[in-house]
Amino acid sequence: MVELSHINYCQRCGSSLVRKNEGDKKRPYCEICRTFTYVDPKVAVVALVICQTSILLIKRDIEPHLGKWSLPSGYVDRGESLENALIREVFEETTICSIPSHYLGVFSGKGPVVVHVYVVTCTSGTAKPGDEVSEVKWCEFDEIPKLPFPYDCEIISEFKNYLSTI
Ligand SMILES: [Zn+2]
Repeated sequence: MVELSHINYCQRCGSSLVRKNEGDKKRPYCEICRTFTYVDPKVAVVALVICQTSILLIKRDIEPHLGKWSLPSGYVDRGESLENALIREVFEETTICSIPSHYLGVFSGKGPVVVHVYVVTCTSGTAKPGDEVSEVKWCEFDEIPKLPFPYDCEIISEFKNYLSTI
């Protein structure tokens, strides 16, 4: 993932960027184009796919965290709704058709990604490993292993709060 400090060239003209203050923040700046380069966060969706007392986990077959169990997730394309991105990612990774049933919340502030999390119900299909996934499994709510991404602890904790209200 691109961090601000690694942005060295202007995307318009290719010149080397300098660091210049804008307000009290130092940002990459092109002295030829006289413009700042802004780096927006990426937007991702995470799916808590539930069935009775189980949640669907995928084993990642790509970096980062290759070989680790994780929640189905992915980036939202420009022009795509969060809900459609979620349905698409769940299908790509697990081959099941699903619908978002509850918006759990947004997680932001750690690193380059803003994450929107939904509780999702399976509408049809049997979970099988899809793109970039080596295995899938249904895991009991109280046996969810430690997951690898920065917001996972908070997401699972929020999920357990939600479960206690339904
Ligand atoms: Zn430039």
